[in-house]
Amino acid sequence: MSKNKELKNPATIAARAGGHVDAGSGGVVPALQQSTTFVRDENYEPLIGSNVYGRDQNDQVRLAEHVLTQLEGAQDSLLFASGMAALSTLFGSLKRGQKLIIQSGIYWGTTAWVREFCNHREIILIEADSSETDVFTDLLKSEKPDLIFIEVPSNPWILTSDIEAISNIAKSAGALLAVDATAATPVLMQPISLGADIVMHSATKAINGHSDVIAGVLSCADASSDLWLFLKRERHGAGAILSPHSAWMLLRGMRTLPLRMKRMCANAMAIAQFLDGHEKIEAVWYPGIDHHQGHALATDQMPKGYGYLMSFLIKGSREEALNFCKHLEGIHRATSLGGVESLVEHRHTIEGEMTGCPENLIRLSVGIEDVADLIGEIDLALSRI
Ligand SMILES: *Cc1c(COP(=O)(O)O)cnc(C)c1O
Repeated sequence: MSKNKELKNPATIAARAGGHVDAGSGGVVPALQQSTTFVRDENYEPLIGSNVYGRDQNDQVRLAEHVLTQLEGAQDSLLFASGMAALSTLFGSLKRGQKLIIQSGIYWGTTAWVREFCNHREIILIEADSSETDVFTDLLKSEKPDLIFIEVPSNPWILTSDIEAISNIAKSAGALLAVDATAATPVLMQPISLGADIVMHSATKAINGHSDVIAGVLSCADASSDLWLFLKRERHGAGAILSPHSAWMLLRGMRTLPLRMKRMCANAMAIAQFLDGHEKIEAVWYPGIDHHQGHALATDQMPKGYGYLMSFLIKGSREEALNFCKHLEGIHRATSLGGVESLVEHRHTIEGEMTGCPENLIRLSVGIEDVADLIGEIDLALSRI
């Protein structure tokens, strides 16, 4: 599958699903192979390749991994049953007494799970703001963690952390750096080229992009590292695999990923500019807005666009924020992000009191709809608060 290694342009890699032709039929779309087991020949050797059992030997999964590896500029990728399955396998590499530093104020599902996990496993957990580069890198120097986990851009605060600066200090402190780049996708940002050891995505989000597959992926800078060999064994042994059908769907979804990202970024930028300075809006958090945190860094780190995810604060309280959601006529009120359809979410309802998520915060995942329609719906809902 490595014969297309020279292909570097994401639009080409994605549209052609890595250059795949179905060997059985000549089809330009892969066949969906659902078999759980594979035949052996008379000498009891696997008939085709190393195929023995379907837990982690499936062609659609391998092909989707191959496309992701190319898009990511990685050495290898592993797909999992969900983003959380990818994450929990990664954190499962930590042993009792080891130290994990994670970014504070990230995807709440990660924070909530990691706290409990580290508590059970007696892993030392430190949460810190990685968007403050100097303070964070000083912490790495003094704490010398085993693993660092950051989310870029973060969610729902939409903060940008300096992956290159953090990875440089991580290396000298002997720590591995993993980046959750779900809100960027490999089209906008390639953390491995900036020095990260592992990149993680919830492929449920923009990578698949159609709100119809739950999947997660890890990609690595070094496929011969101890960590990567562990992760491969762990997925095989613990079995948090992606189903063949989901991988087939994912391959189809990814064909348009670069195209979708281009449109979503353009739509998001126009919406952020519309909201910025609007009389009913207190603040807009989007890396494309020049007075938002990390704008210059994001311009450097995500040169092809600032992403599809933003948060904004409605002037007023919880009531005004929920009223805004109530009066949106086309954009669905639903959790999740990265789909072709825009989704709006009142994060405080989901996260509760514990996280410090402001009650007037609205998170918006911007889709590929007509931008005038989107702005029209938002404008109308704001006028009805
Ligand atoms: C959704 C999400 C996850 C979890 O992924 P699932 O596919 O839902 O398990 C992790 N990180 C981020 C940033 C997410 O948005």
